[in-house]
Amino acid sequence: MIDLLVAGGGPAGLATALHAARVGLSVRVREPRDGVVDKACGEGLMPGAVARLARLGVDPAGRALRGIRYLAGPARAEALFPGPPGRGVRRTVLHDALRAAALDAGVVVERRAVRDVVQGADRVVVDGTPARYVVAADGLHSPVRRSLGLEAGTRGRQRYGLRRHVGVAPWTDLVEVHWSAHAEAYVTPVGPGEVGVAILTSVRRPYEEQLAAFPALRERLRGEATSTVRGAGPLRQRTTRRVAGRVLLVGDAAGYVDALTGEGLSLALAQAEAAVAAVRAGRPERYEADWRRVVRRYRLLTEALLAAAAVPPARRALVPAARALPVLFDAAVRELGRPA
Ligand SMILES: Cc1cc2nc3c(=O)[nH]c(=O)nc-3n(C[C@H](O)[C@H](O)[C@H](O)COP(=O)(O)OP(=O)(O)OC[C@H]3O[C@@H](n4cnc5c(N)ncnc54)[C@H](O)[C@@H]3O)c2cc1C
Repeated sequence: MIDLLVAGGGPAGLATALHAARVGLSVRVREPRDGVVDKACGEGLMPGAVARLARLGVDPAGRALRGIRYLAGPARAEALFPGPPGRGVRRTVLHDALRAAALDAGVVVERRAVRDVVQGADRVVVDGTPARYVVAADGLHSPVRRSLGLEAGTRGRQRYGLRRHVGVAPWTDLVEVHWSAHAEAYVTPVGPGEVGVAILTSVRRPYEEQLAAFPALRERLRGEATSTVRGAGPLRQRTTRRVAGRVLLVGDAAGYVDALTGEGLSLALAQAEAAVAAVRAGRPERYEADWRRVVRRYRLLTEALLAAAAVPPARRALVPAARALPVLFDAAVRELGRPA
């Protein structure tokens, strides 16, 4: 019987598998998509994510990110990460690097979806394959989470994400967040001649129409599109708990608030580490408290920003306030830049 079966070969699943293989567990990943996987993402690795990847020996090529800049019309505010930089990394590059490291560490990656998960006293049987533990890292809409009854339903205003890349030379080494009345556009340099532009909004419209709300940014994006539009959402996904018997939820599958602070990958990597530690100790239930500890600060910051962004006068005041209160904005960016 294998020690760990991982459902999902995205960053959370591959990092979990890599941690598990490195501590001597036998591990298998099941991922239905073939080859290098792309996905709607802002592609900004915060400094903590870069550090966690480095500890795994994974060093994907990208563009150093030194901090964050908020812009709304003429107002702008910026702050630098206090320590080492983050990195803008194309999703395909990140996936390729994680997958190569996992295969190198002896992880078996099978091209198939997980469908049937049956819990037993000393094992979990996944589509007929027994494993001591299962990590469900099957993304925002996690079928495994749903099949185990761990969804808590959604409430409130829903937000969605869309992204596309443009072939222009990056004009800054900061992540730029452009604010309009109903959406934010996140510009992340990912290479010497390419930037990614992710738009987050609660108003569902085609990408081009969304971009029209940012005329100054659109002016700067006078290059060829280098990728097609990809979308994701609704972003907020609530879960009742993160451990059910011998199954642990990791990454977006464990629940998600919003991409506003660009921390999904940092959290996924931290959760992967915590889940493997709990499995290795033979105490899966321990992961619940670790998960809460990992996400606490992210949830507080993201919920606070979302609450402000949802009320038009507060939303309009966000960037001027960040400029008027640099100590506060600096503190928030310091939190995002905190090393792992
Ligand atoms: C618009 C947008 C912008 C974002 N910007 C940033 C950012 O700048 N920085 C950042 O850190 N984070 C960002 N995020 C969040 C980040 O993309 C996610 O947190 C991250 O991708 C989570 O990784 P994951 O492995 O949990 O899920 P995923 O990357 O979604 O991987 C899940 C995998 O599971 C597979 N799967 C699905 N069903 C099954 C099944 N039944 N069996 C087996 N496998 C299955 C899927 O094929 C997929 O490969 C952003 C998200 C969005 C939507």
